[in-house]
Amino acid sequence: MFCYQCEQTKCNKYCQDTGVCGKTETTAEIQDKIISSLVDLANCAERDEKNTLLIINGLFVTLTNVNFDDLSLLRYLDIIKNSYYTDNPFDIKSLWNENDDIRSLKSIILFGIKGLSAFAYHAGKLNHKSEVVDSFFYEALQAISKKMSLNELSALVLKTGEVNLKALELLDRANTATYGHPIPTFVSTDIEAGPFIIISGHDLRDMALLLEQTKDKGVNIYTHGEMFPCHAYPEFKKYKHLKGNFGTSWRNQQKEFENIPAPVLFTSNCMMPVLESYADRTFTTSLVSFPNVRYIDNKKDFSPIIDKAIELGGYSTSQHRTGLNGGSTFAVGYGHNTVILMADKIAGLLKKSKIKHIFIVGGCDGANVGRNYYTEFVKKIPDNSLILTYACGKYRFNDIFTEKIEDIPHIMDMGQCNDIFSVIKIVRELAKKLDCSIANLPVSFVISWYEQKSISILLTLLYLGIQNIRLGPGMPAFVSPNIMRMLINKFKIKPISTPDEDLNSILKG
Ligand code: SF4
Ligand code: SF4
Repeated sequence: MFCYQCEQTKCNKYCQDTGVCGKTETTAEIQDKIISSLVDLANCAERDEKNTLLIINGLFVTLTNVNFDDLSLLRYLDIIKNSYYTDNPFDIKSLWNENDDIRSLKSIILFGIKGLSAFAYHAGKLNHKSEVVDSFFYEALQAISKKMSLNELSALVLKTGEVNLKALELLDRANTATYGHPIPTFVSTDIEAGPFIIISGHDLRDMALLLEQTKDKGVNIYTHGEMFPCHAYPEFKKYKHLKGNFGTSWRNQQKEFENIPAPVLFTSNCMMPVLESYADRTFTTSLVSFPNVRYIDNKKDFSPIIDKAIELGGYSTSQHRTGLNGGSTFAVGYGHNTVILMADKIAGLLKKSKIKHIFIVGGCDGANVGRNYYTEFVKKIPDNSLILTYACGKYRFNDIFTEKIEDIPHIMDMGQCNDIFSVIKIVRELAKKLDCSIANLPVSFVISWYEQKSISILLTLLYLGIQNIRLGPGMPAFVSPNIMRMLINKFKIKPISTPDEDLNSILKG
């Protein structure tokens, strides 16, 4: 087994024998075969809708914390293998032995399109597709098996970021056209008495279907992790039984799900290995699967979960719960549609130095030590600066109360990881209003990465020419020393250091 696709990889080198995420050697082998077959499919089969869907699903099931179920993965492998013929099959293991820099660039592309597949998958579920995105999967997979120069591969790395931007835009359009534009919303962390279901992951369509099926059943719905931004969508706000948010980010799920009288539904990553203590009340759907955990198929009949919620009955009295810093309300819903209305005011306050700086502190949460940096960093940001955030790393600070700057909230949560699209839109708008380039704005990206969506997002930021990104908690193990030097020289990427040091250096300009 060789896997180094995520931030928690063993000793920041690679996982062997077993994954830190809980992935077994057998599962890793099957996932490698899926990737090898997808390369063959891209090389040998026609580009059509069916094959594109196989690629998107095939890549997505190999993302960190999505699918741990060998039988389910073998079914995907079988379908892919039956869709092409080759007498010269590709083996992804050959990539691990290539020249260090080639291996590194090809790994960045591969992990980048894994992230891209997740965004394309969710958009596709809402019937939004893009020819540019779909065709790029073939180009990128073919590149993995081709002889290519460092220059050609470097260009393809940036193209991955460019196409990922299109996928982010596509998913934004899909979500907002279907469920409306998010509006600022305060969400409680308390749990009311009575039966309830917790829904986790990123799939808004699954959320819509679950809300509809539970609407007259006396079962409340609580979001978990990246489902939290659903509270801000007008179409979801109509459901009064969508009550609040349960718990924090994915890394705490084994502890948080342990003793609760309610079932949990996983619609996408990040699922950790399910503990026996809550396996009988855990359900998965779509591409998520775990051995011996009940799976809701594409008919999306959620009755087994609803029945389980009623059987367990929930709490007998309401429960007061808090975020990690003791706050009991989270705010969300600062999507581009809302914040763009504030752009004139923000630009004016920037000109008058009433807002000194804008920090983008976002990205994935994770279990590794060093992530307290982000809590400390946010706490130390001066009151005269704005903080825009997205993805699940925000659970480290989204319950901290902060004052507004002339009606502009000090911290604005833009949503899920894919809602980095809102961040990009706002930053571009501010550059336009202040008549400067993004590079000249007083804006700094301080981001945390974990899995492959965060890699594709990072590539998008690089494609946009954003420099001086501070990345943490560690640097990706799959980037070779030469390629890291190239990234540092060209894009001035920096590893995070200490909150004080980074903050001082950013504010000094
Ligand atoms: S996904 Fe991450 S933790 Fe899991 S095996 Fe791969 S590198 Fe290790
Ligand atoms: S933002 Fe990343 S780490 Fe967090 S739940 Fe989503 S995929 Fe997982």
